[in-house]
Amino acid sequence: MAKVPELFGSMVFNEQTMQERLPKATYKALQKTIQNGEPLDLSVANVVANAMKDWAVEKGCTHYTHWFQPMTGVTAEKHDSFISPNGDGQVIMEFSGKELVKGEPDASSFPSGGIRATFEARGYTTWDPTSYAFAKDGTLYIPTAFCSYTGEVLDKKTPLLRSMERISTEAVKILQLLGNKDVTRVTTTVGPEQEYFLIDKDMYDLREDIIYTGRTLFGAKAPKGQELDDHYFGSIKTRVAAFMRDLDTELWKLGIFAKTKHNEVAPSQHELAPIFSTTNIATDHNELTMEVMKKTAEKHGLVCLLHEKPFAGVNGSGKHNNWSISTNTGKNLLDPGKEPEKNTQFLLFLAAIVKAVHEYQDLLRISVASAGNDHRLGANEAPPAIISMYLGDELGALVDAIINDKEYVSKGKVKMETGVDVLPDFKKDNSDRNRTSPFAFTGNKFEFRALGSSLNIACPNIMLNTMVAEELSEFYDELKDSDDLESSVKALIKKTFTEHQNIIFNGNNYAEEWVAEAEKRGLLNLKSLPEAMAHYIDKKNIDLFVKNKIYSKDEIQARYEIELENYAKEINIEALTMIDMAKKKIIPAVSAYVRELTDTALAKKALSAEIPTSVEEELITSLSNKLVCFSKKTTELEDAVIKADEYSKDNLTYATYFRETVFAIMQELRAVGDSMETETSAEYWPYPSYGEMLFGV
Ligand code: ADP
Ligand code: MG
Repeated sequence: MAKVPELFGSMVFNEQTMQERLPKATYKALQKTIQNGEPLDLSVANVVANAMKDWAVEKGCTHYTHWFQPMTGVTAEKHDSFISPNGDGQVIMEFSGKELVKGEPDASSFPSGGIRATFEARGYTTWDPTSYAFAKDGTLYIPTAFCSYTGEVLDKKTPLLRSMERISTEAVKILQLLGNKDVTRVTTTVGPEQEYFLIDKDMYDLREDIIYTGRTLFGAKAPKGQELDDHYFGSIKTRVAAFMRDLDTELWKLGIFAKTKHNEVAPSQHELAPIFSTTNIATDHNELTMEVMKKTAEKHGLVCLLHEKPFAGVNGSGKHNNWSISTNTGKNLLDPGKEPEKNTQFLLFLAAIVKAVHEYQDLLRISVASAGNDHRLGANEAPPAIISMYLGDELGALVDAIINDKEYVSKGKVKMETGVDVLPDFKKDNSDRNRTSPFAFTGNKFEFRALGSSLNIACPNIMLNTMVAEELSEFYDELKDSDDLESSVKALIKKTFTEHQNIIFNGNNYAEEWVAEAEKRGLLNLKSLPEAMAHYIDKKNIDLFVKNKIYSKDEIQARYEIELENYAKEINIEALTMIDMAKKKIIPAVSAYVRELTDTALAKKALSAEIPTSVEEELITSLSNKLVCFSKKTTELEDAVIKADEYSKDNLTYATYFRETVFAIMQELRAVGDSMETETSAEYWPYPSYGEMLFGV
């Protein structure tokens, strides 16, 4: 293996490569575009495209693709080769500025939520020069944004970039007002920690539920689960270690800052955390990471499961979105410094975030809603569906002191009195102290922990950036004409904390009392996707997005429709898969086993009436009864799926029907199925068991 620094970013058309390969004037023009968002001249684009192509060909590429993030939940790509006929039957490799800057994929087969009729197929992708192009599997990948021909946004990238612009603009206004004249740009940074499962490919191939839906729809618990806590941070098995090593190498080549890897709580569960970067790059990189994880697993005879809940009874997988804001002058705005009580600038930004999370708690919940994540939120393994904020003891005490006009005594000062002369940094909160909070302050950033493992992180970050931008803009309006800025800022901080303290909760979010307490505080508890999504189109949310020019009203409506429809489709696929498994494999298997038991009992009886057959008979009776029940439930599920059509006129009703009726029957069917599994001979049971899958690597 090449040395890591040489390997790192070797497949990326990055800063260094651009500097080496672009004429000075072109490089400068491109930098202007990247840094100031200025439009790119076609003549410049032509030069960049040609240099990119030469570089890509050296890396073994024959094709290029505009890589984008439509609303399907996965990335999309269409590969075109560089070949161009040269007139005498030969070809040359060509790539023009026009091809670099703009692509025209057929948009008709991507979800649009009704904003673009299927006959209006045109859509286009535009190069996002702030995210580097890269070479992978013989193709040059160009990160792009995707919209319809008439300009409606059809992807996750465009609103993310818009939200980053918004928060930058508003934060700069406030910072300038507070006297930071050198701050001209603010960026949000994200470090997403990614959880995943690895199972053996041979077992995966036998589980049609995992193949079709990403999770097990049947499966009795293994004798051992995660109760011994012996997997978390445990020694990494050789085969997994080889996978992780290979994964790191592939990610590093793509310029992804893969940093930390360890075993997670559930057996077969692991985590990878990168070093944080700018939000849009972190988003691209997380999408790439998930893809490279899957491909690398295959090379090792493994399958990487990114579903939020592949196995019942053990933890599911999430993603922690570590989020912060920093200035072009290199300052992290969420760093409280040594004396947070004197750091009014920090407190003002904190107040804006507290207000934002309180007022738009529904949007944060919506941003992490998915059929898969519904299994986790509120299941005492992930943060609950109720959104609240954790500030930790020290910051919590400071906010209390501000609200109640009390003097704040920082822990740092207490330490000084005990004879330590160096003022320690404001203590970084050990996130282990409260792993139950959905939105926790962790020293110099917030960790939004409610994300599902397979989620594109664009959505929660669009919400975060936009809602904080909105609060900052309101703050600016309130402060801009003040005669005594310092006291106005202090008053605003106090007022905001006082009005929005209900969103702050430093206790145990898994406790039952919290649910009651949260209700008293008027916090929302949106348990499932349909319940959450219903709030997407609340007036205050539409106003937020429209005012901040993130989405038009139609675009929000479209996203709402897509989410609900998608949810219904996913549950529908799960139901159909269960029916298939039940009828084609489970019923025949149990029936065959009962027959063997019957044959055995009859044979014993034929031999002699003295030989006991009670074991066979008990099993025959038990399994036969369960089989009747199982078969009835299967029919019930089939009927429920057929009836779904009656509810399909309105997507909210449709999704709700799937949640309340179809999903409920699925649970019942599973319970009977799992109970039959525990009584059926392993020789007959048609699927690998939980034990084999979870402990088989
Ligand atoms: P903790 O132990 O508190 O979770 P870590 O240092 O392990 O903190 O960081 C966890 C994740 O948070 C990593 O992906 C890291 O890169 C990211 N992170 C650290 N600082 C920031 C920041 N300023 N903005 C965004 N993410 C950050
Ligand atoms: Mg963490």
